[in-house]
Amino acid sequence: TVTEEKGTISIHTENIFPIIKKFLYSDHEIFLRELVSNAIDAVQKLKRLSSLGEYGGELGELKVKVSFDEAAKTITVSDNGIGMTADEIKKYINQIAFSGAKEFLEKYKDAGEGNQIIGNFGLGFYSAFMVAERVEIQTLSFREGAQAARWASEGNTEFEITKGERTERGTDIILHVAEDSKEFLDKFRLENILKKYSRFMPIAIEFDGKVINNTAPIWAKSPNDLKDEDYLAFYKELYPFSEDPLFWIHLNVDYPFNLTGVLYFPKLKNDLSLHREKIQLYSRQVFITDEVKDIVPEFLMLLHGVIDSPDIPLNVSRSYLQADSNVKKINTHITKKVADKLSELFKADRKGFEEKFDDIGLFIKYGMVADDKFYEKAKDFVLVKNTDNQYATIEEYRQKVEPVQTDKEGSVVMLYTTDPGKQDTFIQSAKKRGYDVLQLNGILDSHFINTLESKFEKVSLKRVDSDTIDKLINKEETISGILNDEEKKNLKEWFEQTLNDKNLSISVSPLPTDELPVTITLPEFMRRMQDMAKTGGNP
Ligand code: ADP
Ligand code: MG
Repeated sequence: TVTEEKGTISIHTENIFPIIKKFLYSDHEIFLRELVSNAIDAVQKLKRLSSLGEYGGELGELKVKVSFDEAAKTITVSDNGIGMTADEIKKYINQIAFSGAKEFLEKYKDAGEGNQIIGNFGLGFYSAFMVAERVEIQTLSFREGAQAARWASEGNTEFEITKGERTERGTDIILHVAEDSKEFLDKFRLENILKKYSRFMPIAIEFDGKVINNTAPIWAKSPNDLKDEDYLAFYKELYPFSEDPLFWIHLNVDYPFNLTGVLYFPKLKNDLSLHREKIQLYSRQVFITDEVKDIVPEFLMLLHGVIDSPDIPLNVSRSYLQADSNVKKINTHITKKVADKLSELFKADRKGFEEKFDDIGLFIKYGMVADDKFYEKAKDFVLVKNTDNQYATIEEYRQKVEPVQTDKEGSVVMLYTTDPGKQDTFIQSAKKRGYDVLQLNGILDSHFINTLESKFEKVSLKRVDSDTIDKLINKEETISGILNDEEKKNLKEWFEQTLNDKNLSISVSPLPTDELPVTITLPEFMRRMQDMAKTGGNP
């Protein structure tokens, strides 16, 4: 039988609540996520017990129900899960839930920088007191012969346990909402919070007469059971206003850490900031955050989709997170998966890969610039495009231009344009000499060029209007011009004396038909310095 009992929870700090409230100030809404998660846990525990044969009763329609009563100022989260006996309340609520709160406090009370704490510490049950002045539990355990129990507390260290009123298995958590949290006694507010955190929770959640969640999101299913349409439909569910993604990766790892998810490659726009913060992080289908910085490598943040891992610690500060070994492993794994997927697409369908390259090239280059491991894989499938819109891998391209575009030091010189319109005369004149010109006019290409030069030996890249073009050794042919060497020399000297600037270099074309009979150019390195000064070194 249930003994009527009043007691004191054994926590040494009397007044932990105001401090916790202060710490979590901006995130009060997570109380609902925590209570709904607990309700779902309770239902799933019952399902498991039933499947193990430890519960012989009817399961019925398993669900969680959220309701509110504006007049009575209550919010109630109900479930028909395992329920609790009075002893279990003492153990799980008085001891475990409150000790979680105590632990939180002990960890952070001296930290002094509340805003550094990730806003989703798993305070669990105790978070109810962020919005409620009094919390009541009405519960009936699934165990045979169990008695209904009731618990109530005002969030201080005192509680009371009495006989409960529930006649059906399960639990009601009733929040008597505090005056300063009345905003939560609102249909739209509650529905929004539920849609944010509980949208993909695994048990049906009923609110306002309807089920608000998709209990079986695709990342929780096996890739073998899914068609392209399913992935596309899920993408639309996540980002209703976006264009279809180009392709996707289904992540599914269970060793050495647990991770599932689907990452989509969107059509990237030239403004990369539009694409950040689109990945959502879940832990067992509970939404945690869409601020995945520090959890996902910077360049992968351009992708969209969902990552779900119970192994990412959510209750710690960001600096701790960066050092966490699981987070590092997860980063490495995702990076590898993404590189493998791209490599697979490249090998399986070169033409399709080329067609998509204008959309995914930016992403690949970002990865190569930012991450050495990614670079190692991507160098074999990253493509460059010349002014005739032909694509080649770096190695293919090196071999292609090597016979005509080698300098005196034996380096292969790749010519490129950063502005095909403005530099057209230079492009045309390079082409007449039998040279090829790449289009490297994307927002990350100056960084990409630096990366290629530092990684590829005996390869240098020069803009088509730099002073290199006449220093190349054309191994295959020599071009005879209309001016003889003496005439060319005189013309060059005249320009040099007239301009009188040592930084400039003058060349006289050997071509009879060249539109640029004389070109005045800056050395490549000087132009890059000038460009960098203009942008302050940023891409
Ligand atoms: P956690 O969920 O991380 O264990 P909480 O503070 O959220 O921590 O909850 C503490 C404990 O209280 C749970 O582990 C569970 O045993 C019990 N509990 C909370 N809510 C319910 C519920 N709706 N039904 C059954 N048990 C519950
Ligand atoms: Mg919990």
